[in-house]
Amino acid sequence: MASKYVDVHEYTVRAHKRLIQTRVFHFVCKECNQTTKRETYGPRPLYCESCRPPQAPRKSLQPSQKAKPRPMTYKSDTDLG
Ligand SMILES: [Zn+2]
Repeated sequence: MASKYVDVHEYTVRAHKRLIQTRVFHFVCKECNQTTKRETYGPRPLYCESCRPPQAPRKSLQPSQKAKPRPMTYKSDTDLG
């Protein structure tokens, strides 16, 4: 098969609505073993929405708290009195 390289320019896709095909699966959740149904557009889900919420809150790693500088009292060697 013949192949060659072509230049692909960078482009931005504008926000748009896309019609997706969703299906409602009836299944048994693997975690709570409850019969549930879940609408999905991907493969068959394994967990119910309560065990695996659709918008799982991402645990973003907070930047490590920097040690706050402590107030310090500096002793001056020069006596101005
Ligand atoms: Zn569940």
